[in-house]
Amino acid sequence: MISNPVPWPNGAKVACAITFDIDTDSILHLEHRERAPTMLSTMSWLKYDEVAIPRLVELYARYEIKQTFFYPAWCMERYPHLVDVILKGGHEIAAHGYLHENPNKLSPEDELYWFERQIAVIEKMTGQRPRGWRAPLYNFSKYSVDYLIEQGFIYDASLMGDDVPYILKTKNGSVIELPSQWAMDDWPHYTHAPDMHYMMPIKSPDEAMNVFMSEFEAMYRNNGLWVTVWHPFVSGRLARCERVGQMIEEMQSRGDVWFAKMEEIATHVQTCIDDGSWSPRIDNLPYYDEPIPELKDANLA
Ligand SMILES: [Zn+2]
Repeated sequence: MISNPVPWPNGAKVACAITFDIDTDSILHLEHRERAPTMLSTMSWLKYDEVAIPRLVELYARYEIKQTFFYPAWCMERYPHLVDVILKGGHEIAAHGYLHENPNKLSPEDELYWFERQIAVIEKMTGQRPRGWRAPLYNFSKYSVDYLIEQGFIYDASLMGDDVPYILKTKNGSVIELPSQWAMDDWPHYTHAPDMHYMMPIKSPDEAMNVFMSEFEAMYRNNGLWVTVWHPFVSGRLARCERVGQMIEEMQSRGDVWFAKMEEIATHVQTCIDDGSWSPRIDNLPYYDEPIPELKDANLA
């Protein structure tokens, strides 16, 4: 059912990346600038990252996998000990904004300022420029792709337009998209947080895992790409994290599942494109320069 499956390494039937976005309390300061310092309960919920991140890194070590963490740079500066834990585990740190700002709600100039500032922090704290980016809250703007291209990123992980990697192309160049989608995000399954204006009925780990694993089974049958968008303070809670361990065991028992960092998946995809063993679908961006003309002077509200 996938028309152009990627030839994954060693005959693997699916490429899997458990990616976590480490937003910690950046999102609370962004949402409630003045009140955040006195919102201690919600703050403590978000700062559970300090418990969950070492737990996740230990979990990955148990199953001998290396994965990718998308990290707002302000959170890295605020919690450098967590950055150390991740780097010591051999995992990738990729970009996720400076303070989780929303790129498509900023001017192009402001978007670029924060985009460059996040890169400088990652370079200083990890010794390497980031290779990948996920827009905070998926808020990829019509300028974002050119900033990625200009700054030498090899992949983006913000968009939802396919089941396999594809190419985002502009007149300035291109970047590989490693797509995911809302069903692979843990917020809709688990998050009840009135201060964040997000109130979903909380599911059991098995119920949430049914959704994630249905996606996995379909990707496994069709040679797709399976990328989670999870958060340590959400999926790293004890019962959910234990269930993630069972999930990794189930997946690894198949023997033909490729767990990899996002940068490894992007590098493999680029190699396949270069040697002609695979041709990606190409999306030319931006999709629209401005509001569609049919809306001009129209009273459709
Ligand atoms: Zn985020």
